[in-house]
Amino acid sequence: MTLKIYNTLTRRKEEFVPLNPPTVRMYNCGPTVYDYFHIGNARNFVIIDVIRRYLRFNGYQVQFVQNITDIDDKIINKARAEGCTTEEIAQKYTRIYFEQADRLAIQRADSHPKATDHIPQMLTLISTLLDRDHAYVVDGDVFFRINSYTSYGALSGKNPDDLLEGARVEVDPRKENPLDFALWKASKEDEPSWESPWGAGRPGWHIECSVMAMEHLSKTIDIHSGGADLIFPHHENERAQSESATGEPFVRYWLHNGFLNINKEKMSKSLGNFFTIDQVLERYDPATVRLFLLSAHYRHPLDFSEENLQEAESACQRIIDCLVTIDKLINLWKANAQSEVTRTEPPSDLTARGQRFLEAFLEVMDDDFNTARAQSVIFDLVADINLQRKELPDVLPASLLDERYVTLAHCVKVLEELLSILGLQISGPPSVTHDDMTERLIALLIEIRSMARERKHWDIADTIRQRLQDMGIYLEDHPQGTIWKKQ
Ligand code: AMP
Ligand code: ZN
Repeated sequence: MTLKIYNTLTRRKEEFVPLNPPTVRMYNCGPTVYDYFHIGNARNFVIIDVIRRYLRFNGYQVQFVQNITDIDDKIINKARAEGCTTEEIAQKYTRIYFEQADRLAIQRADSHPKATDHIPQMLTLISTLLDRDHAYVVDGDVFFRINSYTSYGALSGKNPDDLLEGARVEVDPRKENPLDFALWKASKEDEPSWESPWGAGRPGWHIECSVMAMEHLSKTIDIHSGGADLIFPHHENERAQSESATGEPFVRYWLHNGFLNINKEKMSKSLGNFFTIDQVLERYDPATVRLFLLSAHYRHPLDFSEENLQEAESACQRIIDCLVTIDKLINLWKANAQSEVTRTEPPSDLTARGQRFLEAFLEVMDDDFNTARAQSVIFDLVADINLQRKELPDVLPASLLDERYVTLAHCVKVLEELLSILGLQISGPPSVTHDDMTERLIALLIEIRSMARERKHWDIADTIRQRLQDMGIYLEDHPQGTIWKKQ
């Protein structure tokens, strides 16, 4: 079986071959931190989380980067409205983003770089584009010259003339082509700005992602993802500027999810037709929400409706009931077991039944991550486990090595494995290993320390650093964030 991924660039499913296996370099456009994120945004974050888990399950070493856009018009406007700085807005909503993502069991990326920590690298990339005639300066703005990049429009599948018509871009007489886009924007009064060779200003949105993807991963990355609304202009422009600067392919597989709709319209902040994660989690638990978000193929539209969420809720309940019944049974059997159980892998004739479900699951996930069909496999397995349970005698066999027990226990193990690939923490609280727990606690301390530093509580920050050091854990502060090392 081979994994196939639909590539937006080629408009077909392609066999997945990373540039340097077993490493997979993956970049997802992260949140713009100016407000609570909604359940539509969560569709993107949850799908990418599942894809990452699935790649790991397949033995890949995934390097996953998800940026934080912490400077843009919306952040500036919010800061003005609330009478505070853009940093304060960005910090507040970054913290909220992580809290909510954690509630949905979305695993943290290996790195979450912030745009404002990468201004020098953006200036370098823009200078390279200017040196190569791919960009030009007008009154302190720097524009990318789309006519200098012959593949412009290939990602969105349109030629520049059609794009022009569809995009209804503002006509700016200073641009050579109306589709030319800003790499650097001259600063306006009252806006945060950085020094540059072209005067004070701030970066354009697209250049941020190119820089962070290349800086934290490499010139060519394996998977770049986002919602379908990012294909044009964001990803088209990222691709144009990155490839023009490096002369190498920027992304091997472009992956885009369809929209979460409500009343047949895309859920979005601008339309005001959205529900925040808090609002949804008030009524449904995280596993139900994930099950719902994964109930359609990721490229298809999905309707946010009470009916669909309730359906996911009862589906979730079916899994819980199954696991609870089996849990009770297994404990009973263990209590009655005459002999110690040998914890070796059961023989293959006893695992064939569970194995069939595992293979069916892998087959549909290999087909461009078809989580909708993967869920059907899970429910077939739940039904099969329930059936096996019913067929068991009322009198418990004396030994845990009874064939029926071994087959059933293996099926349950497969079920738990499949649930964890979809990030469905159904059988109670997340089971974290000791190592996971340590990592997460250290990450939490680092987060608290940086909050203390932001608020100038140096004593708290220093105590955290010192106490960790006493335990042999050394913190290193870098522009992209703090990392820790053991000594
Ligand atoms: P934003 O913070 O607006 O940049 O959005 C974060 C991610 O959510 C991006 O990948 C968007 O494409 C995606 N997104 C936004 N709205 C929806 C929606 N209604 N359905 C699915 N994905 C969405
Ligand atoms: Zn981006």
